[in-house]
This record gives sequence, structure tokens and C-alpha cells, in this order.
Amino acid sequence: MVSWVWKHFEKFGEIAKCKHCLKKVKCRGGSTSGLVRHLKFIHHLCEKQEHDSNFQYLLQTKQISDSEKTEKVEKLIIEMIAQKHLPLNIVECESFINLIKLLDPVFKLPTVKTLKLKVNQFIPNIKSE
Ligand SMILES: [Zn+2]
Repeated sequence: MVSWVWKHFEKFGEIAKCKHCLKKVKCRGGSTSGLVRHLKFIHHLCEKQEHDSNFQYLLQTKQISDSEKTEKVEKLIIEMIAQKHLPLNIVECESFINLIKLLDPVFKLPTVKTLKLKVNQFIPNIKSE
């Protein structure tokens, strides 16, 4: 059974990423209690509000597409790193940051730590160095 919280989070193994603020919350063993807490205290959302028209509106706003975009860009960065065996700290490289900023001034690059986690998830056989 899929919990309602998954409408607000994207799952990455034991980590779930909030679609509203992109914060990562642990969901060890598929437990959603931390996620429910996050939605409740950070976004004042609970199960009932799912059908709320304001909330439906919120789902259709830019925030979702931004999070989808972030996801796609992150995946491409990971692919690039994997294909060319680039160091993960390329995301801390000034030229790379400037390139991303030029393309999208508001895009938030993943940190090396986040990247390491995702690289291991998406491409288990590549080295994280
Ligand atoms: Zn959030």
C-alpha cells in the first residue's frame, strides 16, 4: 500500500526527498513516520489536506517541476561523472558552478555527499573517487 506521503516525497532507497523544499528525510525500512512529521511541521500538511483545493493548486505550481528538473539535472551530472570518470567534487568546481548558474541561476547543485549517495544508488559499479 502506498502511503499518501509519497505524493510529497521522492524515494531514493532509505532517503526520501521532499518535493516542496527538496530536504532529504530518512525513511529507514520504508518507514514514513519521519516523512509525515516533516510534512506536518515544515509544510503544515496532513492526510486530510490532500483533497484541499489549495493543496491541489500547490501541487500544480512551479515547485514540482523544479524538483523534477533538479532530479533530471542531477541524473545527468551523475551520468557525466560516471561516463568520464570525473571526480565527484566537480560540483564544487568554480567553472562548473558558473556554468550551471548561467543556465539556471536558481539551480541548487547537489553536494559531494549527496552525489556520492546517489552515484552509489544509480550506478553501483562505479568508484566514488
Ligand atoms: Zn519539505
